Amino acid sequence: MKTKAVLDESQIPTHWYNIVADFPVPPPPPLHPGTHEPLTPDDLIAIFPMGLIAQEASSERWIEIPEPVREIYKLWRPSPLYRARRLEAALGTPARIYYKYEGVSPVGSHKLNSAVPQAYFNLLDGRKRLTTETGAGQWGAALALACQFFGLKCDVWQVQGSFDSKPYRRMQMETYGATVVGSPSELTESGRALRERFPGTAGSLGMAISEAIEAAAGDPEASYSLGSVLNHVTLHQSVIGQELVLQLKEFGEEMPDALYACAGGGSNLAGIAFPILRENLEGRANTRVVACEPKAAPSLTEGEYKYDFGDTAHLTPLLKMYSLGPDFVPAAVHAGGLRYHGMSPLVSHAYDQGLIEAISIKQREAFAAGVTFSRAEGIIPASESNHAIAGALREARKAIETGESPVIVIGVSGSGQLDLPAYADFLAGTMADS
Ligand SMILES: *Cc1c(COP(=O)(O)O)cnc(C)c1O
Repeated sequence: MKTKAVLDESQIPTHWYNIVADFPVPPPPPLHPGTHEPLTPDDLIAIFPMGLIAQEASSERWIEIPEPVREIYKLWRPSPLYRARRLEAALGTPARIYYKYEGVSPVGSHKLNSAVPQAYFNLLDGRKRLTTETGAGQWGAALALACQFFGLKCDVWQVQGSFDSKPYRRMQMETYGATVVGSPSELTESGRALRERFPGTAGSLGMAISEAIEAAAGDPEASYSLGSVLNHVTLHQSVIGQELVLQLKEFGEEMPDALYACAGGGSNLAGIAFPILRENLEGRANTRVVACEPKAAPSLTEGEYKYDFGDTAHLTPLLKMYSLGPDFVPAAVHAGGLRYHGMSPLVSHAYDQGLIEAISIKQREAFAAGVTFSRAEGIIPASESNHAIAGALREARKAIETGESPVIVIGVSGSGQLDLPAYADFLAGTMADS
C-alpha cells in the first residue's frame, strides 16, 4: 500500500497558475489610496520590481517559472503527498485522508515558494536590499534565506510580541543573515507614531507592514516584500496544487471531495486550492474547498467585503477584501501567521463568488487536532496548519456517522518544531480560547 507520492524533480511545475484567467467574473482591481482610481504599474515602482508588478496585474493563465528559481525549488520540491492511513485508523473513519506537507522546505513552511521568486525578480531589477514584516517569523525566515541565495540584504520588522516570545525564529533569520528589529520600532516615522499612539503595544502585522514599506520607499536600492495576500504571492504558491493534482493520480484517486487549508493572508490556501478550483470551473471536479481561519481573526467568516488598507498607517493601495479593519489587533493566539486583519483579494473574490467555503476554529480545537495528527502521523504541524487539520477532522468524524468515504485533502502548510511551547501550553491545559 502506497504511503506517499513524492514525484520526480522533473515534475516540479514549469509554470505558475494564475486563476485570474479562469474566474467567471473578473476580480475587482486594487485602487490608488489617494485618487481611488485603479492602480497603475507606476504606482508600485517605488516598492516592487517590474517582474512582480507585471505578475500582480497579469491575467495570463500560465506564467513561466525562471530556471534559477526552479533550480532552488529542487532543494525541497516536489513536496510529498501522504495518505494518512494511521490518522484514519486512529479516528476510525471510512474517509480517505491525504495531506500535502510543505514543512519539508528548509525553513519549515510553504513561504519559501514565494520568497525565492520575490528575491530573484528584485535581483533582476538591480535591487540590493529587501524590507519586510513578519509575525511569528516564518515569512521573515523564508525571505532571509531567499535573500541569502541571491546576495541581497534583508531587514525584517517583527511584531514585537513575537519578537519577545519566539526568540528561535529570530535566531533562524539571523543565522540566514537578516537583520531583525521589533515593531513598532524607533527606526521609522510610522513606527515612532504608532509607539506614541499605542504605548507599550505588542505590535501587529499591520503596523510592521507600515514600517517595512516606509523603509523601502525611502531607499532607491530597496524593495518591500510581502509574504502573503497579494496576487503574485498566491501565484507563486500554485506549485503546491499543481503537484497535488499529479500526486492524487499516483494514488489512483480522482479529484478530492473536500480540500481543507488554513487561511491567514490566504497564500497557502490559494496555492493548494486554485489549481483544484480550475478543475472545478472546467467541469472535471466538484471539490469543496474549505478555508479554515482562527476564531481570533475571522476575516472571511466575520469580516466585511470592502476596499480596505493592508496596513495600519494606510500606506498600501486599497484592496477589495474581507477585512476586520486595519486597526484590528487580534488576541495573542499561537498561530501568529493567521493573525492578519485582511485576506487575499483573490481568495476574497473566490469566497464572494461562492467558489469556496470558510469556517472559523478556536485554538483549543485546532491544537487538539494537531496532537491527534502528530500522534498518528509523527509530523508535528505548525500552529496555523492545525486549523486545517481541525476542519478536516470534523468532516472525517462526520463520515463515521454517515458511513460515506469522502476523499479529504489537508494542506499542512508547515512544521511545528518551533511551535512546541504552544503545544506545551495546550498539553498543560492552560491554553486560552479567545
Ligand atoms: C504564514 C503561514 C500561514 C498563513 O499564511 P497564508 O498566507 O494564509 O498561507 C499558514 N501556515 C504557515 C505554516 C505559515 O507560515
